[in-house]
Amino acid sequence: PLTPLTLLGTGAMGTALARVWLAAGHPVTVWNRTPARAEPLAAEGATVAVSAAEAVAASRLVIACLLDDASVGEALDAADLTGRDLVNLTTGTPAQGRARAAWAQERGARFLDAGIMAVPPMIGAAGSGAYVFYSGSAALFEEHRDTLAVPAGTSYVGADPGFAALHDVALLSAMGGMFAGITHAFALIRREDIAPKDFAPLLQGWLTAMAPMVHTAADQLESGDYGKDVVSNLAMQVAGNATLLRTAEEQGVSTELLTPYMALMERRLADGHGHEDTTGLVDLLIEGP
Ligand code: NDP
Repeated sequence: PLTPLTLLGTGAMGTALARVWLAAGHPVTVWNRTPARAEPLAAEGATVAVSAAEAVAASRLVIACLLDDASVGEALDAADLTGRDLVNLTTGTPAQGRARAAWAQERGARFLDAGIMAVPPMIGAAGSGAYVFYSGSAALFEEHRDTLAVPAGTSYVGADPGFAALHDVALLSAMGGMFAGITHAFALIRREDIAPKDFAPLLQGWLTAMAPMVHTAADQLESGDYGKDVVSNLAMQVAGNATLLRTAEEQGVSTELLTPYMALMERRLADGHGHEDTTGLVDLLIEGP
């Protein structure tokens, strides 16, 4: 028989997850603060609990997919977590993951924190590439990995309950920089006779071609030799920045998304690292001892 589970939170993500577990045949109990948002799942076979405490009592495996860490504390305040396996799919910070793990353990539960690398339509969709980072109790992960793998792939990144959030947020932060670049690129062509739909494949191709540079950076960080395998040295790149800035000016586009990164490049160059590439910027960002 398939593992019964409780899902707290039937927002966009919780609903997508519940549907896939239900379709796979898992007995699913759901709870949502606003009951109307859980009702549609009853028609698909879910049991709707009237309180979070009742939902937690229904299954040993309890999965929370709420707005933020504070809502997890609020929702579970009155629930008895003794003997429960709590999996927190709510996005949070590494410190929140660690604190929530200690909080759950004090209440007698095993705990796994998680970070979802997908948007709701990718959940349960074959070949979507959706997966979830997990960290915390390895025993919990091993015991429930088949159930956890139903809606999305699984990636266990360590016993430190902060690591799932750290991996999640690191990837999301990289995405932020990528989208900043995409935003600037579209702004540059916006007022010209260049169709965004013709430009988009060029942008995708270029970003994809540049993506393997993450491995060069990783090699340099691992070896500590930032001058290794340099193909575009920093001095050349800083000189090139002038062209990027001047083009923005010619096109009437703000440089506000570009300049913070360029300022770091210039600082690193001024420190005498013009023969390296940009990997050393990592060290410039790290604050404190
Ligand atoms: P929604 O805004 O659709 O749903 C939020 C859920 O949290 C609702 O069930 C809401 O209940 C509940 N909630 C909010 N505050 C409280 C509270 N104080 N007490 C109890 N319940 C509360 O968000 P999503 O479903 O999209 O996101 C859920 C989690 O999944 C978030 O942590 C998000 O970062 C993460 N995630 C979402 C992705 C996405 O693309 N949607 C992608 C990756 C991760 P109510 O209906 O009563 O308001």
